Amino acid sequence: MIKKNEIFKTEITDMSDEGAGIGRTEDGFIWFIKNTVIGDEVEALAMKVKKNYGFARLVSITEPSKDRVDPPCPIAGRCGGCQLQAMSYEAQLSFKERKVINNLRRIGGFEEMPDPEKILGAEEGEVLRYRNKAQYPVGRDKKGDIAAGFYAGGTHSIINCRDCLLGAPENRDILEYVIDWMKKYDISPYDETTGKGLLRHLLIRKGFRTGEIMVCPVINGRRLPHEREFVEGLLGLKLPENSRITSISYSSNMENTNVIMGKEAVNIYGKPYIEDVIRRHYFGEEQRGEKEGTQEGEKADEIRFRISALSFYQVNPYQMEKLYSKALEYAELTGNETVWDLYCGTGTISLFLARRAKKVYGVEIIPQAIENAQENGKINGIENAEFFVGKAEEVLPAWYEKNRDEAGAHPDVIVVDPPRKGCDERCLETIVKMAPKRVVYVSCDSATLARDLRYLCDRGYELKRIRACDMFPMTVHCECVVKLERKDQ
Ligand code: SAH
Repeated sequence: MIKKNEIFKTEITDMSDEGAGIGRTEDGFIWFIKNTVIGDEVEALAMKVKKNYGFARLVSITEPSKDRVDPPCPIAGRCGGCQLQAMSYEAQLSFKERKVINNLRRIGGFEEMPDPEKILGAEEGEVLRYRNKAQYPVGRDKKGDIAAGFYAGGTHSIINCRDCLLGAPENRDILEYVIDWMKKYDISPYDETTGKGLLRHLLIRKGFRTGEIMVCPVINGRRLPHEREFVEGLLGLKLPENSRITSISYSSNMENTNVIMGKEAVNIYGKPYIEDVIRRHYFGEEQRGEKEGTQEGEKADEIRFRISALSFYQVNPYQMEKLYSKALEYAELTGNETVWDLYCGTGTISLFLARRAKKVYGVEIIPQAIENAQENGKINGIENAEFFVGKAEEVLPAWYEKNRDEAGAHPDVIVVDPPRKGCDERCLETIVKMAPKRVVYVSCDSATLARDLRYLCDRGYELKRIRACDMFPMTVHCECVVKLERKDQ
């Protein structure tokens, strides 16, 4: 039994959700050790000892993992964003594949599973600079100067960083401009402890296929001061040829909580949204290990989307296209189906489904996203998609109670794409009652996915396909898409 302040040896065999390496010792103890990667043999100092696990500080790496690489970003060790930068991309992918399967086994109790298909990894050249959205917190550093960048892992202290390697290079010019503007007009950054100060966050979003950029400061106030100068300065920035700022808004958030955006956004230049284009990929015959590219010989199926500041939009457009294409493949539509798309955001999945189905219903909690979804249907000439604002766990049961005796009450397919906490039980319960032939579950958290799949599989469904998709290279997060079928068909 290792005591506090004792030094011990271990090998790192796993990573936690926070990105700490995990090692075991012979006494059965599990140790969380930061700044290590899977495969490292280390010496560590026990800092905090609990009943059967503990936290230790890395003393030395006695034998570095063969998967260790030099992190491309200079602040990778301090910033809370990228936990896996010191691991080769191949090793990141196998870590994520294993994590999904382990969660399905451990949390979902799935002993037997269909052969998991190879994770959809990012293409070379798309493992960095893939994020279409940046949300920089703005505050002060210890010296009292304006700081903007990222939160240090597990804290709210801001590490200065103007150019995140996961984001678009334009972010840097925009952020620097905003800080200059703050200094020039004496605009104070927000202070979380006192609740005073104006500028809280800076949201920047870019449509990678269109080059349209949105800038949206989040402020602790009702009006943005020096609004005209703010807009003029931004429009005067020299950005790369293929990108331009087409939307400037601000959002008021005067509540002292962790929620970043306010409830509304006030548009002060251009459109209240940016547009982007999403292209469906066709993978051809599925085969493990087959090269699934975006290149040659593919048929393209494109839809144009409007996305406002408050709407959800997948942050990795390259991988998003693969994920959606997989979800569409799993839905197996022929044109006659009725489909529900729960947690539909701006209709990104719904409208692709609608092109291949008789009727699609989308449900989403954010009103601005539903406005986008309705418009997105119109601008693409898609008329068979209908959208509802509200919680999936309220809208779906209410709709079903009203329509249960109608012919359309039992859809062919239900797609769900919930946030990390997964589906509410009332939503799952109604899905079971509606008894679709297939459920396609898109998930950004394999732990809640495993829990929800257990619920559905205990009530008549069977796990048919599982595919992880690396939407977030360099981080511990992993997206996943699953196909379930009703057993009694
Ligand atoms: N399918 C969309 C959005 C997925 S993200 C896309 O790929 O773009 C999850 C979405 O669920 C977000 O848009 C969020 O606003 C919404 N949401 C969160 N809780 C919800 C709930 N209880 N009911 C319906 N939608 C919800």
